[in-house]
Amino acid sequence: MTAPDREATATGPASHHETALTGSAPHREYLDRLAAGSVPFQTCDGCLTAVFPPRVICPACGATELRWSESSGLGAVYSTSVITPRDTDPYPVVLVDLDEGFRMMSTVVETPAADVPIGMRVRAHVDREGSSDPRVVFTAAEAAEGEEAS
Ligand SMILES: [Zn+2]
Repeated sequence: MTAPDREATATGPASHHETALTGSAPHREYLDRLAAGSVPFQTCDGCLTAVFPPRVICPACGATELRWSESSGLGAVYSTSVITPRDTDPYPVVLVDLDEGFRMMSTVVETPAADVPIGMRVRAHVDREGSSDPRVVFTAAEAAEGEEAS
């Protein structure tokens, strides 16, 4: 476990939208739940849409009854691109489709960026080691692990 590259990614895309949301109540609740070690998202009571990132009003139907749920953390890579910073190793920025039906921007750790194909099964982990807010990162999941969900 080395910290330097994690701090470097704090300026990466994963933190952009989080910064934009800082201060909103759903975002604070999200961080609290994240800090407790779960991967939270919301489910709309009105239309059952999985809502992420957390917000006050369902983007699908406008309902305000959003219930907090806990993700299994299992999903599949929807898209990937490699960021090549000037002074650290390249790292992947991925969109992950979680099995509960929401999409999250994150990164995959412990696997070289070039070895992260679209469709790869991944498992979420809460990274609480950084200097900033806790965040979700992904590692490769065993194929069998992903099958448990079905
Ligand atoms: Zn809804």
